[in-house]
Amino acid sequence: MSRSFDVVVIGAGPAGYIAAIRAAQHGMTAACIDEWKNKDGKNAFGGTCLNAGCIPSKALLESTELYHRAQHEFKKHGIRTGDVEMNIADMQKRRASIVRQLTGGIAGLFKANKVEGLVGHGKLLPGKKVEFTPVSGDAEIIEAKHVILAAGSAPIELGIAPFDDERIIDSWGALELDAVPERLGVVGAGVIGLELGSVWSRLGSKVTVLEALDDFLFMADRDVAKVAAAEFKKQGLDIKLGAKVTRASTDGDAVTVAYEDEDGAHSIEVDKLIVAVGRRPYTDDLFSDDAGIQLDERGFVVVDEECRTRVKGVYAIGDCVRGPMLAHKGSEEGVMVADLIAGEFAEVNYDVIPSVIYTAPEIAWTGKTEEEVRDSGRAYKTGSFPFMASGRAKAMEQTSGMVKVISSQDDDEILGVHIVGPMAGELIAEAVVALEFSASTEDLQRTIHAHPSLAEAVHEAALAVDKKALNFPNK
Ligand code: FAD
Ligand code: NAD
Repeated sequence: MSRSFDVVVIGAGPAGYIAAIRAAQHGMTAACIDEWKNKDGKNAFGGTCLNAGCIPSKALLESTELYHRAQHEFKKHGIRTGDVEMNIADMQKRRASIVRQLTGGIAGLFKANKVEGLVGHGKLLPGKKVEFTPVSGDAEIIEAKHVILAAGSAPIELGIAPFDDERIIDSWGALELDAVPERLGVVGAGVIGLELGSVWSRLGSKVTVLEALDDFLFMADRDVAKVAAAEFKKQGLDIKLGAKVTRASTDGDAVTVAYEDEDGAHSIEVDKLIVAVGRRPYTDDLFSDDAGIQLDERGFVVVDEECRTRVKGVYAIGDCVRGPMLAHKGSEEGVMVADLIAGEFAEVNYDVIPSVIYTAPEIAWTGKTEEEVRDSGRAYKTGSFPFMASGRAKAMEQTSGMVKVISSQDDDEILGVHIVGPMAGELIAEAVVALEFSASTEDLQRTIHAHPSLAEAVHEAALAVDKKALNFPNK
């Protein structure tokens, strides 16, 4: 007799594993199928985020930022260290150990919540049946009352620069390099390009980033993008905008990258080339042709606001559906879907999903950019506060950047908060709560912030919206 569950989830990334756990918390029987295999040949839960994305990249960003600060900042604090050395093998050992602890943690969470974690391939068939093919052994058909597709995404490969996993690599390859490339090329000045470009630049690589668009960080507020561009330039990241890569070819030990910009055709030679031009939904062999699942023209599983596919009882969440490809977006969709299946009210507020780029300074925002508010025709006001005027930032020796608040002119509602500066990724949480509660600027202005703290910069930026900033001249 075939096994059956109330909920079967395909994919144990941050969307899928969270959905399975929440379903089990509701008292439903749940299974979560995942086939992820790491470069050491071992299977692990956690998907891209834990194995090859959010977590390993942040581990390397932390290690290399400390290294950079030891070299460039410690002296100012009076700390004399002599020569500071980075041992790449130790750095990578730490990264791998953090990944192992967290992915192992998911297996523990499954056990604690009585989720059946199944290692192997899952494929949706008609009638909410799932074909499960374990890593070794025969395929079985599992029956489900509800199925959640959470298959994630994969790097986009460029035909003109195909991955060879040796010199032309994707973000996963770039996280696991065992030596610092002298010359590193990056195609794409997006989130991955900037984070991984920063990692290897801090370790001594000469990094050239080729970005096809003329605008730097097109998705961010222009004021924030301007400050960030200046900071990256100071750090030595050579970001070439309007640079269209036409070909990359490996020649012995080097990669020759040809590109065109408004000045004509150019080429550079690098030792490694990271191609980070976005990710595509991954739905390879995820469902049979007759399962009733529809893909849009870009390959995303078509879902409604509540992540329902066209097949009753089948949902899809995370990177394989529309919306930003962010771990926390996928997890919240997982919670929403499990709650809906349990008969509860649930929703995801897609308007206030925070975005964070973990460079130094960090970049974080939520809500609308000034350009989006202007285009909407809504009358608005803005205020900003530089970290240069923050006592805490000065004490931390991290004064680059600012906080900008955008509010509605009519009813004072906060519409967007944009931060470039120290711990921006932590500071943005306050703004997300404010937007979630439809807070007014005055609400933030009257909220007491600890002194001295970086959060005071958010407070002062809110005050500046009404020209009431206290620790910086109002414009
Ligand atoms: P995934 O994490 O991709 O998980 C999908 C899982 O499903 C995988 O394990 C896959 O093997 C499995 N699977 C797929 N099909 C099948 C099948 N048929 N059968 C069995 N298993 C299957 N986001 C952030 O929010 N913050 C960050 O700091 C951040 N940093 C990143 C850094 C890098 C370098 C990269 C590449 C991404 C980063 N992201 C970050 C994005 C984040 O990793 C993704 O948004 C997130 O992992 C998506 O979660 P998911 O569960 O939808 O998919
Ligand atoms: P991205 O969409 O952030 O950036 C890709 C960049 O490549 C864009 O600026 C684009 O204009 C450029 N580009 C596209 N084609 C090009 C070409 N042919 N030549 C030159 N430039 C080209 O994508 P990414 O950096 O690959 O990241 C993928 C996803 O992973 C993103 O959606 C992101 O949300 C997620 N991610 C998030 C984090 C985070 O939250 N901190 C970190 C890493 C990745």
